[in-house]
Amino acid sequence: MADSRSIIISYQWNKSVLSKRMVFTVLFKIQAGNSWNIGLKSRVEKGCDAGLKRRMGTGGFMMEYTTPVIQLKGVGEKTAKIFEKMGILTVGDLIRFYPRDYEKFEEALPVREIKKGEICAVRARVAGNINIKKVRNLTILSVVAADGTGKIKLTFFNMPFLKNILKPGVVYLFRGMVQEKDGIPVMEQPKMYKDEEYRNLMERVQPRYSLSAGMTNNMVTKAVKQALSFCPPQKEFLPEAVRLSENLMDREEAVCNLHFPKDFETLIEARERMVFEEFFLFILGLRGQKETNEALESSFSYIETAQVERFLEKIPFSLTNAQQRVWEEIKADLQGKRLMNRLVQGDVGSGKTIIAILALLMTVTNGYQGAMMAPTEVLAKQHFDSVTEMNDKYKLGMKPVLLIGAMTAKEKREAYAMIADGSADVIIGTHALIQEKAVYHNLAIVVTDEQHRFGVKQRESLAAKGNLPHVLVMSATPIPRTLAIILYGDLKVSVIDELPADRQPIKNCVVDTSYREKAYRFIEKEVSAGRQVYVICPMVEEGEADQDSLSMENVENVVGYTEKLRGFLSPSIRVSYLHGKMKSSVKNEVMEEFKNQNIDVLVSTTVIEVGINVPNATVMMVENAERFGLAQLHQLRGRVGRGEYQSYCIFVSGSDKKETMERLGILNRSNDGFKIAEEDLRLRGPGDLFGIRQSGEFAFKLGDIYNDARILKQAGMWVDRLLSEDAEFIKTENEGLRIYLENEKWNPIDFRTI
Ligand code: ADP
Ligand code: MG
Repeated sequence: MADSRSIIISYQWNKSVLSKRMVFTVLFKIQAGNSWNIGLKSRVEKGCDAGLKRRMGTGGFMMEYTTPVIQLKGVGEKTAKIFEKMGILTVGDLIRFYPRDYEKFEEALPVREIKKGEICAVRARVAGNINIKKVRNLTILSVVAADGTGKIKLTFFNMPFLKNILKPGVVYLFRGMVQEKDGIPVMEQPKMYKDEEYRNLMERVQPRYSLSAGMTNNMVTKAVKQALSFCPPQKEFLPEAVRLSENLMDREEAVCNLHFPKDFETLIEARERMVFEEFFLFILGLRGQKETNEALESSFSYIETAQVERFLEKIPFSLTNAQQRVWEEIKADLQGKRLMNRLVQGDVGSGKTIIAILALLMTVTNGYQGAMMAPTEVLAKQHFDSVTEMNDKYKLGMKPVLLIGAMTAKEKREAYAMIADGSADVIIGTHALIQEKAVYHNLAIVVTDEQHRFGVKQRESLAAKGNLPHVLVMSATPIPRTLAIILYGDLKVSVIDELPADRQPIKNCVVDTSYREKAYRFIEKEVSAGRQVYVICPMVEEGEADQDSLSMENVENVVGYTEKLRGFLSPSIRVSYLHGKMKSSVKNEVMEEFKNQNIDVLVSTTVIEVGINVPNATVMMVENAERFGLAQLHQLRGRVGRGEYQSYCIFVSGSDKKETMERLGILNRSNDGFKIAEEDLRLRGPGDLFGIRQSGEFAFKLGDIYNDARILKQAGMWVDRLLSEDAEFIKTENEGLRIYLENEKWNPIDFRTI
């Protein structure tokens, strides 16, 4: 343990009262969410005051955070299994499973008053016959409804059974996104409600949870309501001074309102309170390490080697000025007395990988081992392939080895053996790199690509595997200086602010859904010219959206979309899909097939966003572009335009609201990730912040480093102030915080994802 000081961020709180053991206890408890303690205690505490009725068993039984969800009424074995898939094992998990989005149900409007591009509700009579037609393997059911002020056309995909449900002459309440075809308003896939049901929904802002197949929003809502009534959320622990000057809502009230907001204003306040906490605890963790980092001496001696120079001469391009400058900075770090702790920031396509390879090559030729970690197996495999290829082509003499979870036990054993005795000197992989069995011979540098998807703990354990190595962090997420200081502490920052000169600019267009037909024809054209295509959808499968309501009714999902697309495109085009919930071995296979051009069109979630390099892919089509932050869309765009061919981006917006189109239009005008993120922020108000993420890289549960930059700065300021005034939190006013850190059974930060 003595050597478990991470050189980046660790969870030892320097002078704080938390012992390392305690820290690990906390982490362990978070990870071992299934250490079930079925203790129903007869303990009554003040619960939430968000108007929730407390429902207790006959003996006034309360639940613990550790109580398994199956103890809740209405949660049987089957539902518990699905909850488990969603990462929810206990009542505590459920309480901190915050909605992904919210919805306010509006009054139904006369058909005449509904607006194109908006979600509206109408009460209308089914007028006329129900038509069913088949387009390839898609069943399209359509019907006209009217209410005396006008007519509206309703279409449903693959729901032929509605033929027996919708009765001509009967009035229904339909709700959905309004579009227009041939001058008539159209709703695709509207949801239907009974009047009374709809009135109830209108009363409050409704939470929308991320779901898995088989789970409905209603089921989660009911379970969360029960959880909150049996088990009040953790009490306030932030010092009063912080709470008062930052105007933060009380914690219990905030948690309840985050799930079941009284109204929109309260929701915004509740969210702010919880985002503050999330950042506060994260920064507190970072600060614990800062001083240790600053004085770390390097135990490695590096010299410049001829191999590196020769390699630079042989590659078919010369480094851009920016790459050259950053490489000089890294070389100086490696040869210095202190350990390197450097972040390389560079926009997508700016050429960060070659910098990583240079650092690894310099390390190997100095007689040490180097490791490179990637956030996904697909990306790790890609790095391994490109390192191997260059190694062979330019006779670099490195001995690279791959280490990922999808390898067989035997393959892993062999890799571990080579890592331990030094017969492998470049180790490339995911977090498998840091598992206990990996013992390094003489690890001198760790390069992490898009590192923030790694857990704090994972980075710490890697650093604990021998002498503390140099650390080089690669990131495409643009972060303003002020935030970088808070988030990275003493990391030095190098910026690659220049793209290689030979790049053809990507052609962009922002369109509404009526453009799809044209886009599909364009895709066919590109595929027949030998190119490949990505299509991005926000959801994995239908079940993830909502089955009993409709805020997501126009949100495309990867699995369903793939089916539809196969119908719409010429049958010779090979369409496949990829998403984060697939087994990693399957993901690797799909990616491999795409690279080898055995798949023409890849429908994917944003798993593709990070670092994938397939230069033959020239079209990036993003469905429901309005649901992504612009910075993220920019990342996605970076997956094309990586080779010699002209590339195209088609951003399809599910909403043609003026503001949405204007916001997406920024992508048309700029290719600079930094500028895009800033503009995006400027154009949006606090109400737009739900459900949109800017940065996939910093996976906070609620907070977003761009959207919530102000809160981040305030949290950073308070951590520094508290630590300088009372580092051990022994003053009475800080006691709550100390007790929280010592005793908390679960932690609001999911350390696995930060
Ligand atoms: P990213 O910064 O997004 O990780 P990569 O490192 O994957 O970008 O580089 C993108 C592509 O650009 C790669 O195919 C790489 O070989 C190429 N590349 C890198 N540096 C240069 C350069 N100086 N001139 C031309 N092409 C380059
Ligand atoms: Mg990259």
